[in-house]
Amino acid sequence: MPKVNTLNFNTDWQYAEAPESSDHVQLESRYGHFINGKFVAPANGRYFKTINPANEAKLADIASGSAADVDKAVRAAKKGYKTWSRTPAKERAKYVYRIARMLQERSREFAVIESMDGGKPIRESKNIDIPLAAAHFFYYAGWADKLDYAFPNRRASSIGVAGQIIPWNFPLLMAAWKIAPAIATGNTVVLKPAETTPLTALMLAKVIQESGLPDGVVNIITGAGKTGSAIVNHPGIQKIAFTGSTEVGKIIQKAIAGTNKRYTLELGGKAANIIFEDAAIDQAVEGIINGIFFNQGHVCCAGSRLFIQESVADLVIRKLKDRMETLIVGDPLDKNTDIGAINSKDQLDKIKYYLKIGVNEGAEMYQPSCRIPQKGYWCRPTLFLNCAQSHRIVQEEIFGPVLAVQTFRTVDEGIEKANNTPYGLSGGVWTDKGSKIFKVSSKLRAGVIWANTYNKFDPSSPFGGYKESGMGREGGLHGLMPYLELN
Ligand code: ADP
Repeated sequence: MPKVNTLNFNTDWQYAEAPESSDHVQLESRYGHFINGKFVAPANGRYFKTINPANEAKLADIASGSAADVDKAVRAAKKGYKTWSRTPAKERAKYVYRIARMLQERSREFAVIESMDGGKPIRESKNIDIPLAAAHFFYYAGWADKLDYAFPNRRASSIGVAGQIIPWNFPLLMAAWKIAPAIATGNTVVLKPAETTPLTALMLAKVIQESGLPDGVVNIITGAGKTGSAIVNHPGIQKIAFTGSTEVGKIIQKAIAGTNKRYTLELGGKAANIIFEDAAIDQAVEGIINGIFFNQGHVCCAGSRLFIQESVADLVIRKLKDRMETLIVGDPLDKNTDIGAINSKDQLDKIKYYLKIGVNEGAEMYQPSCRIPQKGYWCRPTLFLNCAQSHRIVQEEIFGPVLAVQTFRTVDEGIEKANNTPYGLSGGVWTDKGSKIFKVSSKLRAGVIWANTYNKFDPSSPFGGYKESGMGREGGLHGLMPYLELN
């Protein structure tokens, strides 16, 4: 019998014996950029490799985008905009629906490649990333011809070419978050996936090609920071949508200051997950585990700071440690894996750097005894106990499976500590009392707050942050606005 554990990221999961296999998918050895409906070689002939972080094996060569490639893509998007912006909304919706359905039909292949390229457990890519990506296309297809109802008494028109830059933690899902609202509202796009996880965006390009979406409406350029910068600085772009680090977000803000480009930034986070003494403790422990270990903690809204009310702190920590002993770290393609591979060597080095800092700052480190594979990039789930507000591991985003634990006595003290952070993206509240949920959630300075659950996403709910977590919202009705001129 396989070991069945209860990490409830999704309760519909059926456990099976065999791991998913890379035999189910077909990868090309080399991928060009997707410009004007075709895959084309990079202007400078340069490629970089994308690897599987679970075994360091090369998966494919990927085109390295230069300013010339970006320019070609922007020209294609501009040309595409001329007809796409005038295409009747109902027609636009048909294409977007078609892309959604095609993603569903190919979800298994997408899930396997997402896990191979990024390291996330197949259970997550199959049950969360890919279905949610399809759901975003469905959701925004639905709005395409209903903008008059979304914004009554106002005239909504598209804005032009959107430059979209996405991170490596949810590669297909972030592409869907960005592309779906943009094209449903009549804009065209130039999107760049992150350099460590380009494959599912390129598979999406194939789906888009097969869907018959007119040429130039979606263009996908691969490359690293320089390629992103060429998109940000291209004068033919009307809007920048960026998800990534706060550091790069600030560079982008500076780069476009003084231009009339619009922008939305979804940046880092250091969310507080607050457990009150009246919470259902076992559920809260599952919520803590999900909050920080989902996707190896590579989640901007991860519940990476835990605040436990003092009277139940010993109990919660004991249960949390017991639960961590049951977590399986390993092969992302194995359906029983809870924690997959760290996305890249650079990211693993960053996490290890913070583990050292935590120990040197005097926090008590706890890791379960689980085995980790020899090859590839791995990190055991980690707790830091007895943390202080001033610790760097409490203040700075680690973006890994590392949880900083603190306690509090009163509700007000919990809120004050939770808000003591430069970030403001998300938070969690665990209590039996509805009134406490309202009080705490209205006082937390964070864009998304979950009560008695964590990391639940839906295309209809807006997502975004305050303070250093960025500006603007994606998802829901709010997610349409950055792509529209409203008169
Ligand atoms: P992380 O530090 O988590 O890798 P980044 O913010 O560096 O996150 O990366 C997010 C995305 O931003 C990636 O697609 C990356 O290539 C891109 N990027 C990095 N530097 C720049 C830049 N200066 N301008 C535009 N995009 C950038």
